[in-house]
Amino acid sequence: MPVKEVIAALSSILTSPIEYLKGVGPQRADLLKKELQIFTFGDLLDCFPFRHIDKTQVLPIRALSGQADYVQVSGAVLSLEEQGEKRGRRLVATVSDGTGVLELTWFQGIPWALKRVQVGGRYLIFGKLTFFLGKPQIVHPEIEDFVPEKLQGKPFLEPVYPSTEKLKARGLNGRQMGKLVWQLFESLGPKDFPENLPADMVARLGFPSRYDAYRQVHFPARLEFFNKAVERLKFEEFFFSQLRLNIAKARRHKESHGPLFGKVGDSFNRFYKECLPFELTNAQKRVLREIRQDTGQGKQMNRLLQGDVGSGKTIVAVLSLLLAIDNGFQGCLMAPTEILAQQHYEGISALLAPLDIKVALLTGSTKAAAKRAALRRLAEGDIHIVIGTHALIEDTVQFQRLGLAVIDEQHRFGVAQRASLWKKASIPPHILVMTATPIPRTLAMTAYGDLDYSVMDELPPGRQPIVTVHRHESGRPKVMDFIKSEIAKGRQAYIIFPLIEESEKLAYEDLMKGYENVKAYFPEPAYWISMVHGRQTTEVKETNMQRFVKGDTQIMVSTTVIEVGVNVPNASVMVIESSEKFGLSQLHQLRGRVGRGSEQSYCILMTGGQLGQEARERVRIMTATQNGFEIAEKDLELRGPGDIEGTRQSGVLNFRLASIVQDKQWLDLAKGEAVRIADADPELLLDDHRPIRAFLLSQKGKTAWSKIS
Ligand code: ADP
Ligand code: MG
Repeated sequence: MPVKEVIAALSSILTSPIEYLKGVGPQRADLLKKELQIFTFGDLLDCFPFRHIDKTQVLPIRALSGQADYVQVSGAVLSLEEQGEKRGRRLVATVSDGTGVLELTWFQGIPWALKRVQVGGRYLIFGKLTFFLGKPQIVHPEIEDFVPEKLQGKPFLEPVYPSTEKLKARGLNGRQMGKLVWQLFESLGPKDFPENLPADMVARLGFPSRYDAYRQVHFPARLEFFNKAVERLKFEEFFFSQLRLNIAKARRHKESHGPLFGKVGDSFNRFYKECLPFELTNAQKRVLREIRQDTGQGKQMNRLLQGDVGSGKTIVAVLSLLLAIDNGFQGCLMAPTEILAQQHYEGISALLAPLDIKVALLTGSTKAAAKRAALRRLAEGDIHIVIGTHALIEDTVQFQRLGLAVIDEQHRFGVAQRASLWKKASIPPHILVMTATPIPRTLAMTAYGDLDYSVMDELPPGRQPIVTVHRHESGRPKVMDFIKSEIAKGRQAYIIFPLIEESEKLAYEDLMKGYENVKAYFPEPAYWISMVHGRQTTEVKETNMQRFVKGDTQIMVSTTVIEVGVNVPNASVMVIESSEKFGLSQLHQLRGRVGRGSEQSYCILMTGGQLGQEARERVRIMTATQNGFEIAEKDLELRGPGDIEGTRQSGVLNFRLASIVQDKQWLDLAKGEAVRIADADPELLLDDHRPIRAFLLSQKGKTAWSKIS
């Protein structure tokens, strides 16, 4: 990057400290920094008004209609009268402009208004229009003395900014902030807003210039100009976030080295033809093709696979591991819990039994001698696939030739952990992260846009939908009878209690009460119950779960600790207590614990007391659909992106204007443009891309600056 460009990018007037702005001074500057994170002139411009006051027109009173919101009129005061007693006391003025009559009313500040307004005086009047007994009126209007030029109205809409109590106390309320921004614009011109998008893109998308966009967001001449400007700024936000992610991805595709899975060999083919117990779904086939493509190029794959609960991710993992083995590599599969690792080990060993493939299990509870042997064989290349828990990333675990690491059910598997896997081989292994937590498309695009990304949105055929019903507390005896009848058929049931993080103690007491209650319905020795909760040690938890997995107990009473993981195909009932306290995605995950066998399964959502509107909506959605992606979309709509698990801290969703819920079409558009540019010119060297490069550079400078401040 030429030095000149760097200096230009960093020396903009917009990087000036906010205290240098006329009318700010050290005390207000301190507050602006603390309360609104406004450090520089540029930060002030990036603080957008949340509404505008329209004083661009002075309307004739006769034209005022119920549609108007805030209005400006001019007129002479005909009468001024105090009416009512005590609390009902008010000041009423009637105003005429020759076309009609308007009432102004004050309930507060009457002495002030009496001084401000005189009978016979002419004023410019602004406020929220209401109708009282069919007559137009404004309560607590703004009053200005009338001068004829004002009949033109103001040339701009007046912005109102977010403010805080402390700022207001220093004379900076939402409208006074506008004076500062106005002041700032006085000293700025188009050259202070260098274009950051390629000229052809701006033209093609019909955007205003960058200067105009900022100008119109703050001081639009008409509302439609404001809307246009906002569109551009939203697009910019999405575009630059997508560009960063896609440049990272494009560079990885270009520069990284990965194990080459050049061929499909014997193990894969034999397994596919002779051992695969079913036909793959189209989604499974598609994802396998994507993985084959990635791994067949000598570049490192970093793929996130999202598939709803039960969509058959395991078999995709197995086939990918066989691909590694056929090309002379080893593979590993990492699960979040011992039980899951164990289950994967048993299932996969059985599947691969006809082939000459060596599978080992390695978890925290593997006995020392067995562990030593496994580690040695792994290092010598005598084991093809190792399945385990986090124990796998310990330094003592060394492979002869690790080619693929599959990470199951942990989309939050961090960068650092990935890196520790890379160190296990001279060429970093391919990484496949699988998750059953559906994430809405837009969220995935922004949160995981730098990863390769596959979706399995299809369930294997013949799945019976899980019958999902909502029951109130009064229906409890019937629910318990129903569980009894299912157990009599040889099935098992889950009863889940919410884990209330703010009050762990309360949650625990609820669980205990619930447990006693269940025990009263299901006495030993006819019935056995497992209980699992967060206060137990890992060993106790594992033992209790194992008893349920093995069928020694018929009922599992638990807090949400079982959310991810266990597969008990024999369990056919999932009762979720106080289900109104769960989020949609969580309910969906819990429901996914049943419906794994061939029997009809049931999910019963218990609720106590009156439900709020949002809780009712959640229950409605759960009983209406089983599509995890649909549910995730609803969850995003109901709660907003800030609350969706795992994205809160990531900071990738800190858009100022844009919303991944309401502005999907802009996100799609921005992504398209970003991908095109990132693929063609990841270093942004082309002349056309110079504006983008300069902008990204200036942004870097900005972050550094606010950190220093
Ligand atoms: P998840 O995606 O939740 O990890 P699993 O891999 O555990 O799902 O698969 C769930 C069940 O579906 C397993 O019993 C598996 O054998 C079965 N399964 C997977 N793919 C298919 C398919 N194409 N046809 C029929 N059954 C399948
Ligand atoms: Mg799974």
